[in-house]
Amino acid sequence: MPALKEIEEKIREFLPREVGVSEVGAEGPKIVLTTDRLDLFIDHDTIAKDLARSIKKRVLIRPTPSSLMDPAEAETQIKKICGTESGINDIMFNPYQKEVMVEAEKLGNVIGENGTNIKKIIKDTGWSPMLERTTPLKSNILSSLRKTLWDKKVCRKRKEFLDKLGREIYRVADHGCDWIRVTPLGGAGEVGRSCFIVQTPNSNVLLDCGINVAASDTKRMFPDFRAMQLAIDDLDAVIISHAHLDHCGFVPYLYRYGYDGPIYATKPTRDIMAMLQLDAVEISAKEDKELPYSSPDIKNVIEHVIPLEYNEVADITTDTRLTLFNAGHILGSSIVHLHIGDSLYNIIYTGDMKFGETKLLNPADYEFPRLETLILESTYGGRKSIQPKRKEAEELLIKSIKNTVDQGGKVLIPVFAVGRSQEVLITLEEYMKNQLAEIPVYIDGMVYEATAIHTAYPEYLKRRLKTMILRGANPFLAKNFTKVNTKERIDLAESNEPCIIVTPSGMMTGGPSVEYFKRMAGNEKDLIVFVGYQAEGSLGRRVQKGMKEVVIMEGKKPKNIEVKINVITIEGFSGHADRRQLLGYVKRLHPRPEKIMTVHGESKKCADLARGLSRVFHIDTRVPMNLDTIRLV
Ligand SMILES: [Zn+2]
Repeated sequence: MPALKEIEEKIREFLPREVGVSEVGAEGPKIVLTTDRLDLFIDHDTIAKDLARSIKKRVLIRPTPSSLMDPAEAETQIKKICGTESGINDIMFNPYQKEVMVEAEKLGNVIGENGTNIKKIIKDTGWSPMLERTTPLKSNILSSLRKTLWDKKVCRKRKEFLDKLGREIYRVADHGCDWIRVTPLGGAGEVGRSCFIVQTPNSNVLLDCGINVAASDTKRMFPDFRAMQLAIDDLDAVIISHAHLDHCGFVPYLYRYGYDGPIYATKPTRDIMAMLQLDAVEISAKEDKELPYSSPDIKNVIEHVIPLEYNEVADITTDTRLTLFNAGHILGSSIVHLHIGDSLYNIIYTGDMKFGETKLLNPADYEFPRLETLILESTYGGRKSIQPKRKEAEELLIKSIKNTVDQGGKVLIPVFAVGRSQEVLITLEEYMKNQLAEIPVYIDGMVYEATAIHTAYPEYLKRRLKTMILRGANPFLAKNFTKVNTKERIDLAESNEPCIIVTPSGMMTGGPSVEYFKRMAGNEKDLIVFVGYQAEGSLGRRVQKGMKEVVIMEGKKPKNIEVKINVITIEGFSGHADRRQLLGYVKRLHPRPEKIMTVHGESKKCADLARGLSRVFHIDTRVPMNLDTIRLV
């Protein structure tokens, strides 16, 4: 990829003479032009678009410092341009990147028809607006993230970090790119601690960095970094496919041990990741299980995230170009596409994906510019891993709830805070109009926060849901839904009121679902419903298998719990593609890959899926174990 000097020459050649450009730089992967003719770029907005297309990079246009309006004045001007109807709640300035954050209830009004307001703001004030939505559900995480990221000190640090990174990415490469290899450091032949390193002569890029929440010994809990044979600060970039802890739970550790480079992820992934990591720290402190990082490390993570939108192309090292695509798994989840070398090689890493209808998200993208190797998840890749139709799953859920409630019982649904819980809530809301009318639904733990974050990013949701949220008919605000405070938890678990409780963690590896379970386990009238994957070793898996007595740790003391509660597993709500969908995905995939590596599944399932794929499509398939290096070029 070209060095910055070459890019600068191309830009100067491309632009008409009257467009004075005083400086060309790079903030991380984005190219920044400083000009005293910002007005020309605004009036002729094709200039910037054509330029970006010609150099294949995101280009930010910034004014020279003298033409930047004073913040207090700019704030008044912005409010005047957008009008009171836009419901602006907050405006914050980042003088280092010449950006202004505008948080408002109605972003459509802030943008104006065809973006007229945005253009006017830039032209009048010189500041580039960054828009954030005021959420209908209040989210503490979102407000504290915004405060952190727009804090002046953090803005200054971030500018220094992005400038340094820009120089790294757009330097002259040390070597030609004549080999590429991939090594799983975790997450091959298992579900949990996903982490893959992609290496070339010039770069070391990490795909995901998770923990295995169900593992009891630390050896199987974290990725094995010793096998990289690199110091952690030799990593050039980390890409996070989505915010579940088995894909991002170990990222703060990197910062604790010397990494100070970028994390690439979508904005929802950044926010949910911060929320789940903070929650993991809190839970581990409460339950006396040690995590090798703490909250200052998480703050460090947040400050180093470079958010990307789907389909946005970013150069992340001298020889690697990244694009994220929709994975259909949870809010903001991505399929990672890497283009390596000069048209040399293309890898797709699916992360976790869903290739079927859900109520929240569109199915995973399947068309890519180029593709040679596919790294494919295999959670439900086994020969028998076929899930029932979604409609059947819903009907079974509703029937089971009704039976329990009619007999005076409570229903506990342990869920991942993100993804399954919103699917379940939307489903319950739909059936509330008739079958489930008047049954209270209690939402505990991080589910509420996670749901609030969903309402901040409706553009990532399915169209129908997005329009509902933008119109104010938000299904997450249903009147039967009640948020539970920690103090009310025990009373609720011990009460005789028939109700539904939706709470994490999904595999009962900690968090409120375990607290409820302890108190409800002995009650024959109650019901526990599993709607998500239960990993080997988790309490959820033991209960699911029908054990009549389980041991739960209370602090460091084991406690025996008798299980009399009714147990049901309902497949079909999963955020993962089942075997049929995985095969269907490869069939639709364009272009078809030369090689497929199956990972993220119990080893038998990875092998089953690989056999199926090679039989049906005659593609070279591999089933790597952790630490197996596979050379691609
Ligand atoms: Zn996941």
